[in-house]
Amino acid sequence: MTDLLSLPMQELTRWVTQELGEPKYRAKQLYDWLHKKQVRTFGEMSSLPAALRQRLGETAFIAPVESRLKLESQLDGTKKFLFALGDGNCVEAVWMEYHHGPSLCISTQVGCRMGCKFCASTLGGLVRNLTPGELLGEVYEAQRQTGRKISSLVLMGIGEPLDNLQNVLTFLDILCSEEGQHLGYRHISLSTCGLIPGIRELMDKKLGLTLSISLHAPEDGARSAIMPVNRQYPIGELMEVCREYFAVTGRRISYEYALIDGVNDTQEQAAALARLLEGQICHVNLIPVNPVAERETRRSSRAAVERFARRLGELGVNATVRRELGSDISAACGQLRRRAAGVTPYPPPSGA
Ligand code: SAH
Repeated sequence: MTDLLSLPMQELTRWVTQELGEPKYRAKQLYDWLHKKQVRTFGEMSSLPAALRQRLGETAFIAPVESRLKLESQLDGTKKFLFALGDGNCVEAVWMEYHHGPSLCISTQVGCRMGCKFCASTLGGLVRNLTPGELLGEVYEAQRQTGRKISSLVLMGIGEPLDNLQNVLTFLDILCSEEGQHLGYRHISLSTCGLIPGIRELMDKKLGLTLSISLHAPEDGARSAIMPVNRQYPIGELMEVCREYFAVTGRRISYEYALIDGVNDTQEQAAALARLLEGQICHVNLIPVNPVAERETRRSSRAAVERFARRLGELGVNATVRRELGSDISAACGQLRRRAAGVTPYPPPSGA
């Protein structure tokens, strides 16, 4: 069975003409149903002859992504989705409202093997990669559920996008294609824990997307303690490739820094971070870490977060404390999926 939603136009055309022996324009029609109209069944493809729809049903499939649960913030319109995939695995996506339009944060893997000590997504390890069609399915299903189109996309949900890079690249190719949803690469951000070969590949492709680096500590000792990936790709090498990325693409890098009480939130660490980023045109996103039931990490106090941000500002670093959206439905990344799988219980309602 062919996974149709995962095929870029050229491959779909090859499949339609060579495997089905149909004329080329049928591939265009099919792509339009899949990626513009975004239907979920062959039955809905009314411009295709019934015999062709039946053959499609016998030889191919449209990867299913279905919303199982939707939590909606009463404060700011943020929606958190739990999506079920064809094999019963679940991933999460978050819909956020911004003044420039809605933004969707999607997952790239079921689970994760990066092992960051403060993160819920990696607790059960990596189950599998999402296919390009499933990545598209997250976008299309969120749009179906809300009746609206996204204006930007963030690859910052469950999983490490650069650990599933080929599928992510195919997904972006389809999502940004003129005959599909035609989203601009400038409206896409990809977040990584720092897999250097993947960053290089993105750099060479010059796609114009925004790169976010999950830094979380300014020295190797502290970073390796919370992010095992740092042992393989230490800070010095990471900074080198980040500087190169900016030089080659002209795109400003965004650094993520989750403040963890007593781990990475001292004034000395703020100064070390400023030294590390000296001369880089970049932005630092400070996030008070989200507590995770199975982890011991505690978020820094509000005063410590403010002190850290102020110190960075004084040292000339462009830093902001991330505005928290959907705090009434907050469930740190990866926790919804674990609860749905019965691994951890749901917490009491917020405020309790
Ligand atoms: N694997 C990629 C993208 C997914 S994680 C990455 O590491 O960037 C998305 C972001 O959320 C990363 O910056 C990650 O470090 C951060 N994150 C994970 N758990 C968190 C938590 N409990 N609180 C705050 N940020 C967290």
